[in-house]
Amino acid sequence: MVFKMNKTPRILNGIEIAAEIKAEVAAEARALTAAGVTPGLAVVLVGHVAASEIYVRSKVKTSAELGLHSEMLTPPESVTTEEMLALIAELNARDEIDGILIQLPLPAHVDTRRLLEAVSPEKDVDGFHPINAGRLQSGKPALAPCTPAGIMEILRRSGLPVAGQHAVVLGRSDIVGKPAAMMLLNASATVTVCHSKTVNLARYTRDADILVAAIGKPGFVTAEMVKPGATLIDVGINRITDAAEVARFFPEDKARAAQFAQRGSTLVGDIDPAAFELAGAYTPVPGGVGALTIAMLMHNTVQAAKARRGAKALAVAAAAAKA
Ligand code: NDP
Repeated sequence: MVFKMNKTPRILNGIEIAAEIKAEVAAEARALTAAGVTPGLAVVLVGHVAASEIYVRSKVKTSAELGLHSEMLTPPESVTTEEMLALIAELNARDEIDGILIQLPLPAHVDTRRLLEAVSPEKDVDGFHPINAGRLQSGKPALAPCTPAGIMEILRRSGLPVAGQHAVVLGRSDIVGKPAAMMLLNASATVTVCHSKTVNLARYTRDADILVAAIGKPGFVTAEMVKPGATLIDVGINRITDAAEVARFFPEDKARAAQFAQRGSTLVGDIDPAAFELAGAYTPVPGGVGALTIAMLMHNTVQAAKARRGAKALAVAAAAAKA
């Protein structure tokens, strides 16, 4: 049985929160640049994966908008693990590069794990290095993976309580599910992590005060699976191309229908939009969690610059000002 909520659910607008974070990052970048340190990001894009090219262009463009230095390195599809290791070693050694991002997925013949571990932990702005994962786990300051860090910013900046809440995370990937669970735990939520082997998953989701869905299955979480009034965080980004599916997920949404007619596809998250009606608050798709990821990458790059070069540069600037 599905209960209807009397109150209109609150939409957690990721685009607005991302704009707030970007403005803060730009201000920090200006202050650092004035002290002689322009935060620098190197993005490595191997081959020609269309989706990766779009993401990388967007990362480079946002860097420029916020006053960060950025470079794009584009080894060919045929690049070897050894050649990639040499490139990463070069970037690790360059002082003006604070963040190194290896755009995934890499071609199958390249040893992805080895490459991610070759990135210096202090320049690991994606937060994928085991040292940063370990620091996160022990509650120490770390460069944290961007998407779950974005989730925490949405909760924090929206004033939604986390401590003492039951947070249920669907998905246990190293990129989203696991670090999201760890960050929620560090923020004193009681955390349950579900995955593809979880038996009777709905019994956990129905008890969730905060439900984070990161499994990559369109509309997987239905209205019957959520607790009325819960905060629903939808990480899934699924492109759907079937008209019947679009009509099922967005039955009365004329704007979606028009978009679908024009483009032949639309995006849906891992939560059925019908479940949003029961929520206390929810992140839409698009315009929710996805909007935060690049903002958090920029944030991490500035944090990496401050941690590695900031103190030295600011001391030099202060000494110069005194002289
Ligand atoms: P992965 O494929 O790496 O992980 C999926 C997880 O979901 C796995 O842990 C898997 O379990 C679990 N899972 C799969 N099917 C089920 C099921 N039926 N019931 C319960 N659990 C299930 O995906 P990612 O974590 O990389 O991404 C998840 C989603 O988030 C995707 O839609 C992706 O596009 C999106 N995403 C969005 C980002 C953004 O907003 N910027 C960034 C990254 C991802 P098991 O471990 O047992 O296999």
